[in-house]
Amino acid sequence: MENWTDRGSLTVISGFSGAGKGTIMKELLKAHPEYVLSVSVTTREPREGEEEGKSYFFISKEEFARMVREDELLEHADYASCSYGTPRAFVERKIAEGADVILEIESQGAAIIKAKCPSAIMIFVMTPSAQMLKDRLIGRGTETMDKVRERLLQAQTECGRIDQYDTVIINEAGKSEEAAERVHEAIQAQKRAPGRIRDFVEKFGEDLREINISQETF
Ligand code: 5GP
Repeated sequence: MENWTDRGSLTVISGFSGAGKGTIMKELLKAHPEYVLSVSVTTREPREGEEEGKSYFFISKEEFARMVREDELLEHADYASCSYGTPRAFVERKIAEGADVILEIESQGAAIIKAKCPSAIMIFVMTPSAQMLKDRLIGRGTETMDKVRERLLQAQTECGRIDQYDTVIINEAGKSEEAAERVHEAIQAQKRAPGRIRDFVEKFGEDLREINISQETF
């Protein structure tokens, strides 16, 4: 039987826009380069500094619709007037290869993943306060005030979907490295949750019973 510790896992990381998920992901991959981050497709315009194929694959609405139609997305959702989706083939291949794959997606997509893959590890990132969220969104200077308002409204909606997550990580100002370490610990702990390794534990129990019965194994 394969060793469950060699198995790939799927982690969903969500959080309010502006909570610092992106920075946490960078810190996580710096400290633990073995994690594989899925790159989403989006119909949003690139922000300054965003790279095609690294931040996102920036695609047209038509191409997005085609990918949905041809079932090339594991999940997809609309967020703040744009569409976002997770390319299926990459994620499935990496998990089959034994990688720990991370999806950084919003909460509607997270719900779809949880429904399709109940063993997905669900993590939510928050700021210590709502005021700090607003300050960060304004401070990063990449959004118009209308967009900031839209994202704060979206955060209000996302608050109601927090129950689907296993762990909440508070990203305190200037402590994204610590937050990344807590994400790593949460993933590793959840990978060992008995519910996620049920078939391994069942086989272990069967093996124990057999060992007890067959005296010659002593
Ligand atoms: P942003 O426009 O700030 O890069 O992303 C907006 C929101 O979309 C963030 O909450 C981000 O996590 C989420 N997002 C990014 N990629 C995907 C995806 O593939 N699927 C879903 N459902 N959400 C995504």
